[in-house]
Amino acid sequence: MNNPSCIFCQIVTGKIPANKIYEDDHILAFLDIQPATMGHTLVMTKHHYDNFLSTPKDDMHWMMNVAQRIGQIQMTMLNARGVNILTNAYPAAGQTVLHVHMHVIPRYSPDDRLRIDMLPANKTTDHQLPLIAAQLVEGLKL
Ligand code: 5GP
Ligand code: ZN
Repeated sequence: MNNPSCIFCQIVTGKIPANKIYEDDHILAFLDIQPATMGHTLVMTKHHYDNFLSTPKDDMHWMMNVAQRIGQIQMTMLNARGVNILTNAYPAAGQTVLHVHMHVIPRYSPDDRLRIDMLPANKTTDHQLPLIAAQLVEGLKL
């Protein structure tokens, strides 16, 4: 099901053009219009889901499979030296297009000024870690 006001749904229907890399019944992969590095690819479900957390397992698995394959191809065909695969869920996490997608970002040099691989340490103390772990373990039981 598509959401007519969603730009990624409009890429699925062909209303908005994209540099497509891979397509099957469930998944579409295409180049990001503002690439972080050469070959930066987005992998999305054709069905509109808002984000990774609300995506059903089958679609999630198909999307992950394609993301892995695109990463492998970026290594061999673009001579990438590494790949970052990530998804932003909800605007608070930096999601700007509210249709689930994974970024597959080839990396060519550790000095390329992309800092997604160097997350700043936060203020969580050793003392807090067991409490946070217990809270999350409890949530998994629900
Ligand atoms: P997000 O911030 O939601 O994780 O990532 C959205 C990505 O979609 C951004 O990297 C942005 O450059 C890309 N993007 C936004 N609009 C378009 C578009 O119309 N075409 C393509 N190919 N990419 C887009
Ligand atoms: Zn959509």
